[in-house]
Amino acid sequence: MSFKPFNPPARTLMGPGPSDVHPQVLQALGKPTVGHLDPSFIGMMDEVKSLLQYAFQTQNEFTIAVSAPGSAGMETCFVNLMEPGEKVIVCRNGVFGERMRQNVERLGGEAIVVDDAWGTPVSVEKVEAALKAHPDASILAFVHAETSTGALSDAKALCALAQQYDCLSIVDAVTSLGGVELRVDDWGIDAIYSGSQKCLSCVPGISPVSFSPKAVAKLKARQAPVSSWFLDQTLVMGYWSGEGKRSYHHTAPVNSLYALHESLRLLHDEGLENAWARHAAMHQKLKAGLEQMGLSFVVDEAHRLPQLNAVYIPDGVNDAEVRSQLLNRFNLEIGAGLGDLAGKAWRIGLMGYAAREENVTLCLGALNEVLN
Ligand SMILES: *Cc1c(COP(=O)(O)O)cnc(C)c1O
Repeated sequence: MSFKPFNPPARTLMGPGPSDVHPQVLQALGKPTVGHLDPSFIGMMDEVKSLLQYAFQTQNEFTIAVSAPGSAGMETCFVNLMEPGEKVIVCRNGVFGERMRQNVERLGGEAIVVDDAWGTPVSVEKVEAALKAHPDASILAFVHAETSTGALSDAKALCALAQQYDCLSIVDAVTSLGGVELRVDDWGIDAIYSGSQKCLSCVPGISPVSFSPKAVAKLKARQAPVSSWFLDQTLVMGYWSGEGKRSYHHTAPVNSLYALHESLRLLHDEGLENAWARHAAMHQKLKAGLEQMGLSFVVDEAHRLPQLNAVYIPDGVNDAEVRSQLLNRFNLEIGAGLGDLAGKAWRIGLMGYAAREENVTLCLGALNEVLN
């Protein structure tokens, strides 16, 4: 028996991620592999750090790419910055806030959950009430852009509250980075993680992470060692920032980092503000077309993510059938509903390279045809 090379179909990815990868990023991925301590590679890693500082709008020295997907970025923040017995305020308005709660509890912390309805942003008032009621809480954790519902929360106001009540902030920016305004230093964010495959339009499997000096100080002052060896950032620091004498920690995903470098370079060339504006403009076009078809949004206009459009499935329409026709007839992937929205909504992504005029036109045309 012989196996043939795998030839993936040429899809257009307009779901909740991965998003369409820029052709230049795919080209970068195929360049010859070098050793992960090769001087040329180390120079490129330094550029990745600078480009990530730009994307996050931070001067944080500790700004790196974790060699694993966004979920590992989430875990990196909790496992390094939290110790057993700590009280953490966790905001839950979708799937990913619930995962944060699970991280806290598995690490022996006490999660104080602030719940908001799916499709609504995190309530700043409720968070302030929780901070007042739990003066011994040490961390506030929330999702900036909730991909399961398409709701954007006010990261600036929430991080200001964290500072006011002497908490470190942990922010999930997996879907927000590169798609909507995000300013780590101006907003006083202490720990933030993202993913390569959403608005950065890179291949999946890498998680950019940044810690403020305050977060790094807390990490260095820990009582107990970090319980995960692989994610222990005190060990990883020697690889990403051992000036002149980087030491082996694990083998970096060399080619994936070429790809990340290229995707961040493209973002830098375009300009962050321009990328935010492009996502907003494409969202407006898509929204106009979807509303013309009679589809309505899950999230109210003021808190809607441009890069993740959750719309209700019209009555009497077969969810799975529509998505499979889009895939089979138009090579177009859109996302199903997740959790509370499973079977009730579609999630149409306009992330990174997918946030283009052609994609909006393709999606509206295909949906129109399939729904009729
Ligand atoms: C996709 C996503 C994650 C998880 O990232 P993976 O790369 O799939 O592990 C976490 N948080 C949010 C908000 C996401 O959209």
